[in-house]
Amino acid sequence: MSKTDWITQEIEALQNAGLYNRIRTIGSPQGAWLVVDGKKVLNFCSNNYLGLANHPALVAAAKKATDEMGVGPAAVRSIAGTMTLHVELEKRLAQFKGVEAAITFQSGFTANLATIPALVGKEDVIFSDRLNHASIIDGARLSGAKIIPYEHNDVKSLEEQINTNLSQYRRALIVTDGVFSMDGDIAPLPDIYEVAKKYDILLMVDDAHGEGVLGKGGRGIVDHFGLHGKVDVEVGTMSKAFGVVGGIVAGKSVIIEWLRQRGRPFLF
Ligand SMILES: *Cc1c(COP(=O)(O)O)cnc(C)c1O
Repeated sequence: MSKTDWITQEIEALQNAGLYNRIRTIGSPQGAWLVVDGKKVLNFCSNNYLGLANHPALVAAAKKATDEMGVGPAAVRSIAGTMTLHVELEKRLAQFKGVEAAITFQSGFTANLATIPALVGKEDVIFSDRLNHASIIDGARLSGAKIIPYEHNDVKSLEEQINTNLSQYRRALIVTDGVFSMDGDIAPLPDIYEVAKKYDILLMVDDAHGEGVLGKGGRGIVDHFGLHGKVDVEVGTMSKAFGVVGGIVAGKSVIIEWLRQRGRPFLF
């Protein structure tokens, strides 16, 4: 017996159950048509909705940036890693989202891991849609707050959970996907906002799949419903419709400033 035998057995169990994830290797740029194992195939499973991942303007901008600034800052942003390019990107993302400020992270996943624990802790409660993305669930667990799921897209269930539980906690957060990543349905954000307002609870939406899809010019779910200034925190990602990589948090400048001080993936 070796101490990794259990892993071999788990992997075999996955294979036997048909749940083993065989990851394809792409030998061409991302796009509608791909080369996989030397074969040309039609692609129905990327998030490159707008074809930006191999767009000539983005390729040219990436070349220009590396010519002028190198391939990376080689430090976290908080030490000696924030470049003029980062500041410009955050300024433009804030304008795009129509908010006071924005901060970028290594990914959407880390944006959630950074944001939720910065906003709530052990004495607090999170009301979370049952079908929220894995990174919201992990961020919520990491915060140490009590997690209370409400039924998917069910504002009545949300309000019931708030009525039953809110008074036992110091602060609260409501968090939902914008466009749900598995089913593609859309959160009833105007109704969720009314509940957040009624109980004076922070409202956070993860719009990873709404960007580039909903709203004017692809600004996302907040723009789609005309809720500018009403949703406290908008999380986003550049790895879906934007075709690149990186997480976004957009909102009021006080929250963005707090994330620069307390968002652990940003700091470390
Ligand atoms: C994909 C996704 C993320 C993670 O974004 P990455 O930038 O790929 O890490 C977070 N939240 C939701 C809802 C997503 O669909």
